[in-house]
Amino acid sequence: MSRGPQLSNSLQNSPRGGKWASKFEDKPTGKKPAVRPKKFLGQHFLNDLAIAERIASLVDDKMVHIIEIGPGTGILTRFLFDRFSTRLKCMEIDEEAIQYLHKQKWAEGMEIWKGDYLEAADSDWLLFGGQKQALIGNFPYNISTQIVFKILEAGLRIDQFAGMFQKEVALRLCAAEGNKDYGITSVLLQAYYTCNFEFTVNEHSFNPPPRVKSGVIQCRLRQDIPSCKYESLKVVVKTAFSQRRKTLGNALKPLTSARENFLIPEDWVSMRAEQLSVADYICLAKIWESTAT
Ligand code: SAH
Repeated sequence: MSRGPQLSNSLQNSPRGGKWASKFEDKPTGKKPAVRPKKFLGQHFLNDLAIAERIASLVDDKMVHIIEIGPGTGILTRFLFDRFSTRLKCMEIDEEAIQYLHKQKWAEGMEIWKGDYLEAADSDWLLFGGQKQALIGNFPYNISTQIVFKILEAGLRIDQFAGMFQKEVALRLCAAEGNKDYGITSVLLQAYYTCNFEFTVNEHSFNPPPRVKSGVIQCRLRQDIPSCKYESLKVVVKTAFSQRRKTLGNALKPLTSARENFLIPEDWVSMRAEQLSVADYICLAKIWESTAT
């Protein structure tokens, strides 16, 4: 997408008003959300300010641009805006939520872009010429995994991302080898990011409550990102985990038969996919690349 950000109206340059206390004028009550929740947009509005503050505090001070995906009614946004001022940019798809935010006193001067993050993610204007960037959000559950894959597949190298996922997804993203949750997404993400599961949030902290618990994670771009191509890593990891119960010798047969010089290190042949570490998979991806014809 080449077109620039679509600012949602004239608030961009207006002064910020009020002291911190006045920001709580529209304190969420937990009863009726200020914006009608839309299921197809994955809207579950957080109603616990303490949790919102905790999530907002995960962003490092040194970040130059902070992008919040889906501010919704702004519970997380108010803490971010208070800390980062115009370094914060919000991207929201729902016009009703945008209109609501524009009416809030605490949000005066805040940049809100109307758009779909998945479409906009790899646009030049959202990469800020490589300046340090954090992505944060109580991510819409229907696209949360797609957001992670978008970052990886497009090679965005976003410095930090933190936020809320369905707990099951959050655990998977942060799982270490040997853990039952360890799988394709764990390896692909952790090859580029150090990931930490921060805390669990229960259903009743949202309106409407989701059916499952949520989990907040923190991910920081690794200094030593893999020297292999993402595509090579994806091929070996997906093939290995496609037959979790089989030994790697068997699971990786589609690759070993496609290239006869692709040899799996002896020690790994009888192991299973979940036993190999992220570093091992990077090593395997490099071997795979070295055998390309
Ligand atoms: N941050 C708010 C809202 C979370 S619900 C809170 O914590 O209460 C998820 C939000 O993401 C909603 O506001 C929804 O409209 C928005 N959203 C959904 N899909 C989106 C997309 N593709 N791009 C940007 N925002 C999106």
